[in-house]
Amino acid sequence: MRLRLPEERPTEPPTGYKIAHPMLSQDGTRAGFTGVSLGGALPYGVLADASCVYGLRHRAPSRRCDCGFHCVHDRTVAEALLCTAEHRAAALLEVTVLGRYIRFERGFRYARQRVRTATVGPCVCGTVAAALADAGWGRPGWRALAPSCAGCLRGRTSVSLAGFARLGAQGLRVVAGKGASVALTGPGPADGLGVPELAAEAALLQARLDWFQAQLARLGEHGPGGGGRQG
Ligand SMILES: [Zn+2]
Ligand SMILES: [Zn+2]
Repeated sequence: MRLRLPEERPTEPPTGYKIAHPMLSQDGTRAGFTGVSLGGALPYGVLADASCVYGLRHRAPSRRCDCGFHCVHDRTVAEALLCTAEHRAAALLEVTVLGRYIRFERGFRYARQRVRTATVGPCVCGTVAAALADAGWGRPGWRALAPSCAGCLRGRTSVSLAGFARLGAQGLRVVAGKGASVALTGPGPADGLGVPELAAEAALLQARLDWFQAQLARLGEHGPGGGGRQG
């Protein structure tokens, strides 16, 4: 007699939670995520299929391997992972578990995933994030992003939260967590931008302009065409 685990046939795909770093492709046209542990070397898109991280030729997940996407059932369990120093800049993802999955006590290991919502934490200065900016590390072809307020962007490569959602496509929502009064969403009615999104974009542009003008002013003070104080 062969022992088989019971098969589940849910009417709706299950929901799970995980943490991951937001990533922007080198050319700035694609948004994705990269995991914080196993599989962290391979950025994935909003809708993605798992492959074996060890390069083995089986479908993920396999019972004899620990590959496949991973998530937990409980949002607070995933949030707890954000407390460690190395995960502070990661985002909390709410995902839909698609395809074959293996259920564990605390979560799922599975074949296909759709990221529905990414909740980003505050800027390092404590202000609610308005953008995702170059975090100073990455993977080949991908820059890791970290939450930033408009004031802390300076000259870094960045995208607004709504911009990241647009690049991610597939109905991704990106939300500023912790004290945020505004949820920035991806594609919506009309051009996909409502008043909150446009206000956030305007704040970012203003911050960029302020930074740019400060740089110009500095050059003006010290540059050849500036004060004319060269000896
Ligand atoms: Zn495998
Ligand atoms: Zn800041």
